[in-house]
Amino acid sequence: MSAEATQDVEAYASRALAELEAVRDQKALEAWYRAHLSPSGTITTLRKRIGSLPPEERKPFGARVNTAANTLKDAFERQKQVVENLELERAIRREAVDVTLPSRPLPTGGLHPITAAIREIERVFNAMGFETFESPHAELDELNFELLNMPPAHPARDMQDTFYISECAVLRTHTSPGQIHAMRKYAPGPLRVILPGRCYRHEQVTPRSEMQFHQVEGLMVGPRVRLSDLKGVLLAFARQVFGKNQQIRLRGSYFPFTEPSVEADIRCTLCGGEGCRVCKHTGWLEIAGAGLVHPTVLRNGGYDPSVVRGIAFGMGVERAFMLLHGITDIRHFFQNDLRFLRQFR
Ligand SMILES: [Zn+2]
Repeated sequence: MSAEATQDVEAYASRALAELEAVRDQKALEAWYRAHLSPSGTITTLRKRIGSLPPEERKPFGARVNTAANTLKDAFERQKQVVENLELERAIRREAVDVTLPSRPLPTGGLHPITAAIREIERVFNAMGFETFESPHAELDELNFELLNMPPAHPARDMQDTFYISECAVLRTHTSPGQIHAMRKYAPGPLRVILPGRCYRHEQVTPRSEMQFHQVEGLMVGPRVRLSDLKGVLLAFARQVFGKNQQIRLRGSYFPFTEPSVEADIRCTLCGGEGCRVCKHTGWLEIAGAGLVHPTVLRNGGYDPSVVRGIAFGMGVERAFMLLHGITDIRHFFQNDLRFLRQFR
């Protein structure tokens, strides 16, 4: 209790009012009440002083203290209301949902890299007029082998260990039986198809071989089809997928269902042809097997090989994908490990 407060109750009251007006929260309001209106506050102290004053000063001083006390009490009640409203506003703001905040993204799925690769290959060939042609995964031995110029004792069958599901039915070892289906649908007219799909071989699973894998095959049959068409189609494909300056080269090879047969290489995409570990320092990557459709296969498809010719090509999707991305283990594609799959999204 200062002497000043005794001398000038009104000045004290107006300072206390100013202090009160600045109060914005419950804690400060309670502190203000304790300092001024509580039994230990300034007003009480002023009242206690009344008794110690000369008798003639007691009444006027008491009246001034009461006026000040009433003013402060009224002001306190008003400020209490103000603070309650402020606290309420703050609570609302704390709990409010800000609808303008960006949402947390939900994890989304993505295409498997092989699915995405097949769709890209399809897109390129579809644009060149090749229709996508699906054929069954379970095939007759006849379609999977015999009609493709691989009779039962043919040595080429050794290249493809086969899952037999009955005496005469197999899980297709390549997408080539689709060639017979497509030719039988379109013969004797011209055709242009690609045959994408999953194939199965009875292989030991190792970093280099899986029991299942994907191929995309292409087939084009018509009266004026020539080997140069094959080169043109493969070059156009290579340039759209691997870069507009891509080169291809064809090397002689052997497949039972084409004659002549070739293997098609592209310039190594990793070293640009300089030679690196991936291309085994040749500067080239083998991307497809291809050739002119064997006359026997044309005949089996319902064509007259003296009237039409065909070109065919096929690529192993996983194999090509591994070459292009430097992947050394084919098993990654079937293990569903997101750490692997997410790298290609
Ligand atoms: Zn290379």
